[in-house]
Amino acid sequence: MVVETKYYDLLEVDPNASESDLKKAYRKKALRAHPDKGGDAEVFKEITHAYEVLSDPQKRRMYDEGGEAGLNDAGGMGGMDPQDLFSQLFGGGGFFGGGGPSRSTARKTKDLVHRVHVTLEDLYKGKTTKLALTRNVICSKCKGKGGKEGATKTCTGCNGRGIRVTLRQMGPMIQQIQSGCDECGGTGETIAAKDRCTQCKGKKVLPEKKFLEVHIDKGMKGGQTVQFRGESDQSPGAETGDVVIVIEEKPHDRFKRQENDLLIDVEIDLLTALAGGEFTIKHLDDRALLVKIEPGEVIKHGDMKVIHGQGMPSQRHHEPGDMYVKLNVTFPDTIAPENIRYLEKALPKRNPPQTFPKNIAIEEVTMDEPDSRRQPMRDPDAMDEDTEPRVQCANQ
Ligand SMILES: [Zn+2]
Ligand SMILES: [Zn+2]
Repeated sequence: MVVETKYYDLLEVDPNASESDLKKAYRKKALRAHPDKGGDAEVFKEITHAYEVLSDPQKRRMYDEGGEAGLNDAGGMGGMDPQDLFSQLFGGGGFFGGGGPSRSTARKTKDLVHRVHVTLEDLYKGKTTKLALTRNVICSKCKGKGGKEGATKTCTGCNGRGIRVTLRQMGPMIQQIQSGCDECGGTGETIAAKDRCTQCKGKKVLPEKKFLEVHIDKGMKGGQTVQFRGESDQSPGAETGDVVIVIEEKPHDRFKRQENDLLIDVEIDLLTALAGGEFTIKHLDDRALLVKIEPGEVIKHGDMKVIHGQGMPSQRHHEPGDMYVKLNVTFPDTIAPENIRYLEKALPKRNPPQTFPKNIAIEEVTMDEPDSRRQPMRDPDAMDEDTEPRVQCANQ
């Protein structure tokens, strides 16, 4: 039993995670949080520290037994430079395609994340959609300087830091509050009104409408992303971030998707269920599947069948998924009494009623439709759930 799970939570793994699970989880998280990728350096440090502890069996045991406090008591937690650990594990900056020395000091503009909601039909067939977005680009007139050469002055309000620190008394404590400088808009520089570029009004950047073609590949899943490198906001002296399109799968009214498999409920009539027949399923493209039930096979209500290869296409050119068909049998409301003899001929004999010893009195009763004015009988389990206070699962 572990006393705290913070480090595990940071890596989003279970406290029972194996060493390779940890490494995998760290790699995934660190890649996203890496400052070179526009991530938050603080978060990267925390993740790396968590991994540093959990990947060392001795430190992991100390952490499991005593939490962070247990680690600190033991001392010797000097802490490695997160960048070093990362490079040591994954080999330099090679991960990011750049190679060479780390560029963690280079500023990068924020990634622009945009969600697109895609129908299951479009994920099945693939689609190209055009996306319009507005982003800042460096002003072409002043080349991002904001004004004439030499017109830029260091902001006197914040001494060029772009932030202002104010002290606030909070009871016995004095709190430091950092806020963006409003004199220079957080840029640390000011340009006199007369010197400002006439095109961007000294802002150095201008909004620009841009169209991106998003290719939704066949078989893509919700949560997958399409990346456009360097298409985010431009800013002078900073590397341009990426536009990241996140695919969201719209729920479908007939199909449910599980990975690459599709699941559908189909209603068939009783005669087809008992004596064979056909039914159709409209697919996600311009096809309908004609399904035959051979005479002699009996379909029971709720039976699950599979049509191989008719699920979602696989993105990696593997086999496509399967289509699972849940068959619901619709029963007729009545049967003409004169036809019952045909059923008796075709179906297995009726089960006779259970017999009882002589001391059990047999009483004949009639069965009616339940009275709609009265509350229908409820499942005793369901009643329990309603009357008992909800059990809290959040706390152990
Ligand atoms: Zn300009
Ligand atoms: Zn300022």
